[in-house]
Amino acid sequence: MADVPAECNIKVLCRFRPLNQSEIVRGDLFLPKFQADDTVVVGGKSYAFDRVFPTNTTQEQVYNTCAKQIVKDVLCGYNGTIFAYGQTSSGKTHTMEGKLHDPHQMGIIPRIAEDIFNHIFAMDENLEFHIKVSYFEIYMDKIRDLLDVTKTNLSVHEDKNRVPYVKGCTERFVSSPDEVMDVIDEGKANRHVAVTNMNEHSSRSHSIFLINIKQEHVETEQKLCGKLYLVDLAGSEKVSKTGAAGSVLDEAKNINKSLSALGNVISALAEGTKSHVPYRDSKMTRILQDSLGGNCRTTMFICCSPSSYNETETKSTLMFGQRAK
Ligand code: ADP
Ligand code: MG
Repeated sequence: MADVPAECNIKVLCRFRPLNQSEIVRGDLFLPKFQADDTVVVGGKSYAFDRVFPTNTTQEQVYNTCAKQIVKDVLCGYNGTIFAYGQTSSGKTHTMEGKLHDPHQMGIIPRIAEDIFNHIFAMDENLEFHIKVSYFEIYMDKIRDLLDVTKTNLSVHEDKNRVPYVKGCTERFVSSPDEVMDVIDEGKANRHVAVTNMNEHSSRSHSIFLINIKQEHVETEQKLCGKLYLVDLAGSEKVSKTGAAGSVLDEAKNINKSLSALGNVISALAEGTKSHVPYRDSKMTRILQDSLGGNCRTTMFICCSPSSYNETETKSTLMFGQRAK
């Protein structure tokens, strides 16, 4: 594999969803002003990213600009991570998953699944591919296997090369995009069973889909591995200290802690100094350690609501994204 380049490879993209029906009915204002293709102005302050996607951007455009290249790189042996960050209802799941079985509305994960197999079918027939996927979530700092409901508290270990992994997590071999989709459907169904209110739950847990690709040349036996983490983060909204109590407050503190840990890692990587990167501060950053920064492909989607009602959250979301620049 190539040497780690001095500059790290982190892209930060910002996507605004359209106003929804209830926001329109309430008379909310549309806040963002889009400038060129990389800047958005909110409340008089301008925020620049690698790319800003206005509300009318299609799923296909998002995929082609941001994720397509990562798939090629992972097939060349690089690791990568794609995140979606933002408050609840800002479009994270729409961006990562979208409508899974709808060719126009499907998001990044199903498109990646299709793309991987299209590439493979077009490649050297002397290459043998082994593709496996895992699907788990992190809730209150516990790792829960979404493909085996009996595994509710998995731990992070390191293999003999000191590469972190979730020990005992189910791995499914897949040989077509449909099989990938079946795994996602299964994981989502399991997630529903385990909780009473799915919307609330999904906004308070990080869900992580891992695609692991191994290839081996049948004659030379040369091997190449790449993996891609696809992360739909918990909602970043602040919970008011006065309004919340008990378990809700505990959840909020926990989310806040893990999102700050992620922000700290990303900003240390973005600074590009060889200084300490605090991977060990959270389970999520430990797991992602060998797929973030260095010569890995890291893409962060900063998802925002356009509504004046959410102005404070939107600004704080945009600020989080700026830290990574
Ligand atoms: P989150 O996962 O951040 O909580 P969702 O992805 O579930 O938010 O989005 C909330 C709602 O807004 C969903 O009904 C979703 O379909 C819709 N939505 C989000 N982003 C877009 C978009 N770019 N275009 C159209 N609808 C969107
Ligand atoms: Mg969601």
